[in-house]
Amino acid sequence: MQRTGQRTGQRATAPQVEFGARIGRPIGALVASCIDLLYPPACHLCGEPPAPGSAGWSCAACRIGEAPHQRCGRCAARLPEVLPDGATCAACRRRPLALDRVIALADYSDPGLRKWILALKHGGRADLLPTLATQLAVACPPEHLTDRDTRLVPVPLHPLRKFERGHDQAAGLARELSRQTGVPVRQALRRTRATLAQGSPGARSRRANVAGAFAEIVEERRQIHGRRVWLVDDVLTSGSTLEACARVVRRMGARRVGAIVLARAASAGGGS
Ligand SMILES: [Zn+2]
Ligand SMILES: [Zn+2]
Repeated sequence: MQRTGQRTGQRATAPQVEFGARIGRPIGALVASCIDLLYPPACHLCGEPPAPGSAGWSCAACRIGEAPHQRCGRCAARLPEVLPDGATCAACRRRPLALDRVIALADYSDPGLRKWILALKHGGRADLLPTLATQLAVACPPEHLTDRDTRLVPVPLHPLRKFERGHDQAAGLARELSRQTGVPVRQALRRTRATLAQGSPGARSRRANVAGAFAEIVEERRQIHGRRVWLVDDVLTSGSTLEACARVVRRMGARRVGAIVLARAASAGGGS
């Protein structure tokens, strides 16, 4: 039932543009209305009718980032009200993150976004990837994703975890973002060992947990050298995993390294 609603939601948007462009606006609009009647738009996550202003992909309960905030220009942490958007947060001033920039849709505490991520990671809903990638593409300043010297590099999942989950959400997200923006995706990193799930340990042990857990894929060095790299992952928890990956791609010769994630933990920042 949910899946039907989700498919119809996607189907209602894509053909409208195509028909409109091919057979002229009035007929295209008429055809679009007929498609809307046959396949009413539905929230891509739960199948409920979309909320006004959501561009047809999300109902009110599944809306992402309901309350926008000013964010740190480096780590995307929420800033105090008094600071302007893009200012550097206190944690980054103390210890800058090993990433030049982090782009996130919202904090992980955002109830709407958490629903999408849980469905994607643990509910087998790989069908949500196109919608989430579209939102990420919208969140990225366009000049960052049109540079032909840019590469998307997913944070690699250990094969054991991939087997457990049935799919690799970071790789899927990177592939979908690549399909929508034209920026090439490269599997330039590999896991050398499985790491403990990020979450409970303290910051210091998190860094130890991922130390040496990633290595370059040597054949990819030519693709990374001199390029701007966006690491892609679902959630920035402490920042340690993304920082460990950033160090490897910098050693491969990347000139700038940022991270694109769906969510960042509100407590992360300054490379903790
Ligand atoms: Zn919904
Ligand atoms: Zn910061």
